[in-house]
Amino acid sequence: FNVPVAINEPILSYAPGTPEREEVLKAYQDFYNTTTEVPVYIGGEEIKTKDTGEIRPPHDHKKVVGTYHRAGKKEVQKAISTALEARKEWSQLPWEQRAGIFLKAAELIAGPYRARINAATMVNQSKTVFQAEIDSACELVDFLRFNVEYMTEIYAEQPESTSGAWNRLEYRPLEGFIYCISPFNFTAIAGNLPASAALMGNVCVWKPSDHQMLSANVIMEIFKEAGVPDGVINMVNAEPVMMTKEVLTHADFAGVHFTGSTSVFKDIWSQIGQNINTYKTYPRIVGETGGKDFIVAHKTAVPAQVATAIVRGAFEFQGQKCSAASRAYISKTIWPEVKELIGKDIESIKMGSPADMTNFMTAVIHEGSFDKLASYIDRAKKSKKAEIVFGGGYDKSEGWFVEPTVIVTTDPNYETMETELFGPVITIYVYEDSKWEETLKLVDETSIYALTGAILAQDRYALNQATRALENCAGNFYLNDKCTGAVVGQQPFGGARASGTNDKAGSKLNLLRWVSPRMIKETF
Ligand code: GLU
Repeated sequence: FNVPVAINEPILSYAPGTPEREEVLKAYQDFYNTTTEVPVYIGGEEIKTKDTGEIRPPHDHKKVVGTYHRAGKKEVQKAISTALEARKEWSQLPWEQRAGIFLKAAELIAGPYRARINAATMVNQSKTVFQAEIDSACELVDFLRFNVEYMTEIYAEQPESTSGAWNRLEYRPLEGFIYCISPFNFTAIAGNLPASAALMGNVCVWKPSDHQMLSANVIMEIFKEAGVPDGVINMVNAEPVMMTKEVLTHADFAGVHFTGSTSVFKDIWSQIGQNINTYKTYPRIVGETGGKDFIVAHKTAVPAQVATAIVRGAFEFQGQKCSAASRAYISKTIWPEVKELIGKDIESIKMGSPADMTNFMTAVIHEGSFDKLASYIDRAKKSKKAEIVFGGGYDKSEGWFVEPTVIVTTDPNYETMETELFGPVITIYVYEDSKWEETLKLVDETSIYALTGAILAQDRYALNQATRALENCAGNFYLNDKCTGAVVGQQPFGGARASGTNDKAGSKLNLLRWVSPRMIKETF
């Protein structure tokens, strides 16, 4: 299979004077100065309904930059039947044609659409240009390129044949359609959920998040230009409870590709269970859900490394990563130095609009998220078990801004050590060095989620001990690093326990979930 060798898309610098900086700022202004109308995409049709929602920048929530249309039951059913109709041809199309489409999509993003998709992500999801570049340009391109390579690896896996009998595995798509549900926090995930299933020959009904509609729209423009045939990927925003019920009671529902909250995923799973007799086939259930990701620092850890892991892990991307560091266990010996270094780093953090490229952080996604964070911060301010050592401020007058906040608790079961907040707040528990082993046990016992985690130590025995003691606590485990920033093609991403089915986004494992192989034996 002579497909182009996948390489990670290089991250551009956006330094003053570079063409990419000019282009992205212009595209940003274009979104700001016009109003974008995002339709429902079914087949080749762009449908406008009477039910609409407003698109507002989270960092400037009084400004309206567009509207999106919501489908009703009728449109959801139409999307399903259109997808099934498109399946007839798409499932028969040779894999080279499918690969060609998604490789072209990757080149469109890396080139002509780069500024536009990044700007959409900056405006509507409040990402800085660097956060947008890593996500909507590089990671999405990487998913598209690497998946083509992984697909050919899958197809190459064939059983032995002996003379007189020829054994062939045919990697068929699933029989039916795939329901893709994507979150606001990564444009790359939004694009990859339908693209990976479609690459393997499936058709999709994709429900993007209400808070990502600008970049979702750009993704549809790119898919169209790349040549994804009408009906293969249908983008349908709708009221989620209604839409999920319509989809999950359909006989041809064949699988769900989900990234979002644990509670929604569990609800989907149980609805699938209740409807199991409705379906022609057992649906595939693939989900990446929440996290309460940890950093553990041993007394031999390098304090500067620990401070960087905390600040970058917890506050980059406004803490709105499933992988974000949100609890840390720090040795008492190194804590004073680590604390001082965190303080210095936080002092230099600038927060504001993505249009100002000197900002390191911007706003959190919406009022619900802001209110949740503010209420946990307020309770910590009053609690005897917690102390806010840095940050703790918030301001919603212009945008949903929450300061990078560090809470120190004396109670390892304090509420913010256990609840996923999905924002720039980390809680630290300082442990006695004599309690190293108990601390590891504690981390394991309190890991309801198991997405990412990091252990920092110079002592190899301690590193090894933590690696073993925490083996079920993180699907992505980091030694002497922060717990975020998995790169497609290098660290396939996903977790277990309440964090998901661990089918690793951007991997062969994931693509294997979207095929239903047929074993063909021919004798002569
Ligand atoms: N892949 C990202 C990382 O490792 C996180 C993706 C997510 O938030 O779902 O940082």
